[in-house]
Amino acid sequence: MSRPTKAIIDLQALRHNFELAQSLAPHSSTIPMVKANAYGHGAVEVARALAPIAPAFGVASIEEAIDLRDNGITQPILLLEGIFSSDEVSLAAQNNFWLMVENQPQVKAIINATLARKIKVWLGMDTGMHRLGFQPNEIQAAYDALSNSHNVSDDIVITSHFACADDLDSQATSKQIKNFDLHLPKTNNKLSTSLANSAAILAWPQAHRDWQRPGFMLYGSSPFVQPQENADQLQAVMSFESAVISLRNISAGESVGYTANWTAQRDSTIATVTVGYGDGYPRSAPNGTPILINGVRCPLVGRVSMDMITVDVTDLPQVAIGDKTVLWGPELPVNEIASACGTIGYELLTRMPARVPRVYS
Ligand SMILES: *Cc1c(COP(=O)(O)O)cnc(C)c1O
Repeated sequence: MSRPTKAIIDLQALRHNFELAQSLAPHSSTIPMVKANAYGHGAVEVARALAPIAPAFGVASIEEAIDLRDNGITQPILLLEGIFSSDEVSLAAQNNFWLMVENQPQVKAIINATLARKIKVWLGMDTGMHRLGFQPNEIQAAYDALSNSHNVSDDIVITSHFACADDLDSQATSKQIKNFDLHLPKTNNKLSTSLANSAAILAWPQAHRDWQRPGFMLYGSSPFVQPQENADQLQAVMSFESAVISLRNISAGESVGYTANWTAQRDSTIATVTVGYGDGYPRSAPNGTPILINGVRCPLVGRVSMDMITVDVTDLPQVAIGDKTVLWGPELPVNEIASACGTIGYELLTRMPARVPRVYS
């Protein structure tokens, strides 16, 4: 007895996608990105499912990392934006969190900290994204400052992030890689490197380095708009499901829902499904957005409400209250819904609210 709206999370598909990322770059270590609640899938459960096969995890903040520690995750955890205040350095060192280092204040905070143990750092180079990281001509100095510090382990990782790796025709990725390789710091220490996000793992083998950082692909959707042979092997992890809770017949000329933005052109059967923008289904979804009812694509009609949507099921041979409805999942790509709404699958998955129970299978 409960509201039928839920996100079913297929942990076997998650592991399949991780293995795919690993197999595409067999000489890389694969660090799952579980920031933002594992892109909406539940960070603790996702990390637990991958813990036997993942060497480390990546998150956006120390709070996200501590949540994983408190829930039994023992691997190193990389803080992708590093610290936001200097008091985080010793907490990170105590907990075996790894720090991205993206600016001079972060370098200073690490060097000036009093630490019981050395901390592993990833030094970010801005090769063209122009959001975080040191400029290529500043990398040597930042590297020297860190590698001369007693606080820092000597296996520093040099890293960068791609702006356009999802665009297979763009020159930007090759340019970023070239820029990166040209400006690696000179040292006698072992240097390891990391470049690839999901798109680069799937389509840019030149970007496969010591460490790779898949996020979106782990959750089973393609970062590309067009078919791509590796991405096409991914398996969707989340199935966002609900059920029909009401049915009615309306006459041609009648409209449906708030603002009456859809009017029946024929006598129609309307199914009401108990899912809305309060559950993360986008209010921007236009009339005609596909909804699977009993496995058949039916068009969304009328505005998305907070807790409900309305669907034109006139062409369904059979429909009843209680029938299963899928908003996105293996048979209906979240990317397709996102594209209809002017966004990307990343956003729809990541902003799924806590109200939607995650059910693990
Ligand atoms: C989020 C993130 C990734 C993962 O990107 P995807 O496109 O989801 O694979 C990789 N690297 C960094 C630095 C990130 O912040």
